[in-house]
Amino acid sequence: MTDTILVVNCGSSSLKLALFDQQFKKIASALAERLNNPDAFAHIAGQEAPVPLPTGADHGQALASLVKAFNESGYMSQPPKAIGHRVVHGGETFRESTLVSDDTMTAIEACAELAPLHNPVNLEGIRAMRELFPDIPHVVVFDTAFHLTLPPRAYRYALPEQCYTDWSIRRYGFHGTSHSFMVQEAANRLNQTPATTSIISAHLGNGCSITAIRDGLSVDTSMGLTPLEGLVMGTRSGDVDPGLFDFLAARGISAADAHHMLNYDSGLLGLSGQTNDMRTLCELADHGHEPSRLAIDVFCFRLARYIGAMTSSLDRLDALVFTGGIGENSARVRSQTASHLKLLGVRLDEELNHHHGRISDGRIESPESNYPVLVIPTNEELVIAREANLRAHN
Ligand code: AMP
Repeated sequence: MTDTILVVNCGSSSLKLALFDQQFKKIASALAERLNNPDAFAHIAGQEAPVPLPTGADHGQALASLVKAFNESGYMSQPPKAIGHRVVHGGETFRESTLVSDDTMTAIEACAELAPLHNPVNLEGIRAMRELFPDIPHVVVFDTAFHLTLPPRAYRYALPEQCYTDWSIRRYGFHGTSHSFMVQEAANRLNQTPATTSIISAHLGNGCSITAIRDGLSVDTSMGLTPLEGLVMGTRSGDVDPGLFDFLAARGISAADAHHMLNYDSGLLGLSGQTNDMRTLCELADHGHEPSRLAIDVFCFRLARYIGAMTSSLDRLDALVFTGGIGENSARVRSQTASHLKLLGVRLDEELNHHHGRISDGRIESPESNYPVLVIPTNEELVIAREANLRAHN
């Protein structure tokens, strides 16, 4: 297979690879997990046998093994024509996807203090792939870039100016590839162009964020300096009172422990005491488990509250869009959220909602709704593949 585009997404202890053909059809994907652990493992989707990895493989070793396995399986008998790399934080430096050079690498390193858990592993993946494929274009695609159109009133925190000027403390926003895909897809379905489309896009997965998009541009978003702010998430708290840190410190909980609590022990998991998984929570709630019902209530109410807040950035709303594992699959979450939006005139057709919009080109609103409501499956890998193709040949 020639003229393929490879997409690399390195997380803290895992990585994903996706291979696209020239029509941007996904032809193969692979996953490696528990990297840097004795039980690290990897496999290609659809193949039963795991891909052999060195014991305790790191990101570089896993990438080398998976590339070899793609090669041996006949998916990538020749080098891809471009490789797209997901990078979480591009700070204020990267307004768009960029061809990788040594200077680009240095600039991404400089953003690492803003995303210490993510940028270093993203860089590790790029270095490893540049060694394996030194002669083909590598392109970096940033989660933050789409949100660099936020106006100062949305990105500045009400903190002393030095926080911004000396320490770059501002709202950056994340899930940019997903939100930008939503406005393109929504425009398609509404027979509009993205540049004249205004939506509220709710990406609800393990991480959750919501973005107001006016005429194709991000103008407000719920995640902030870090991906902790905003909506309730799987294990992340979203918004809390900043006074909480002092309050916890007085009870012997250090800043590091509080950080861990807010990132890993909170959200749906913290509220329910059971799980961060929305599907399981819905089952538990149906069986009368009160803390799970409460977790869903808090999740939906916070989301509805943010939808209301996002309208302050728009003068027209072409659609409210749901995406991500929860947004695409939970009729209950969409329905419960809409029930808080009566004043805005958001009304769902429960039959269409029950089918997740699959029988109605994504539309789930009822005829009396003031606004269209869409369910659109996200595809961040496709966005990265398209960007890699575009930048590699410009
Ligand atoms: P993501 O991070 O986008 O893969 O989304 C993961 C979240 O989607 C988890 O909370 C899953 O429980 C949730 N999810 C996936 N399928 C369903 C479903 N059918 N109903 C409710 N939640 C779902």
